[in-house]
Amino acid sequence: MERLHQGIHHFQANYFAKNRALFERLASSGQRPETLFITCSDSRVIPELITNAAPGELFIVRNVGNIVPDVHRGVVGGVSAAIEFAVEVLQVESVIVCGHTGCGALDAMLHPERVQHLPFVRRWLGEAAQLPSLLDERYGHLDGEARMTAAVQENVLLQLENLRSFDFIARRLDAGTISMSGWVFDIPTGRVFDYDPVAEQFFELGGPGPRRSLSNRPPPVSSPPPSR
Ligand SMILES: [Zn+2]
Repeated sequence: MERLHQGIHHFQANYFAKNRALFERLASSGQRPETLFITCSDSRVIPELITNAAPGELFIVRNVGNIVPDVHRGVVGGVSAAIEFAVEVLQVESVIVCGHTGCGALDAMLHPERVQHLPFVRRWLGEAAQLPSLLDERYGHLDGEARMTAAVQENVLLQLENLRSFDFIARRLDAGTISMSGWVFDIPTGRVFDYDPVAEQFFELGGPGPRRSLSNRPPPVSSPPPSR
């Protein structure tokens, strides 16, 4: 805790001191973020750091497993409220769902016995209950890390589909006034991969040279890929 207190002093003496005008402007004119960024609560995923975004640029929703509850399941909660506010009030232009490698939530989905003693986690992960059977169907031949990577990717795509279940998002997607992207942050390499709905693969973003894919996804998903 003491380290965090020192961190506040450091922030005020350095970053804040250099960017005082920005904070004053954000305070007087309010926030106008262009992007709703949905990611995992994992402490190793830091949206502003990996995108070099400034204060006021990203409206961030974090939860265990970067899950977007499907509206039709009838769950109303903080995640849905934040999404509604970002889209309907802040009028964000893009939504990014960013999963990450080594995600404990995905590990728990693949091994539910490990979270039997955690009733809230278990219930929350139930929001992505279709994932294990989808993995069995499409990635039955994979195990270990390869299966985890597939789970991370498919979970991101599943959440993009769930975003469409909000009528205010579906309307704006149809009108072409909002875009959706699915990303995966690879912790050990710092690389970020973006889903290409045409190739149906995740390709590296911002990297030099030829596009590298995260891993090969098997051909077509049963449902159409999310549009942007
Ligand atoms: Zn995670």
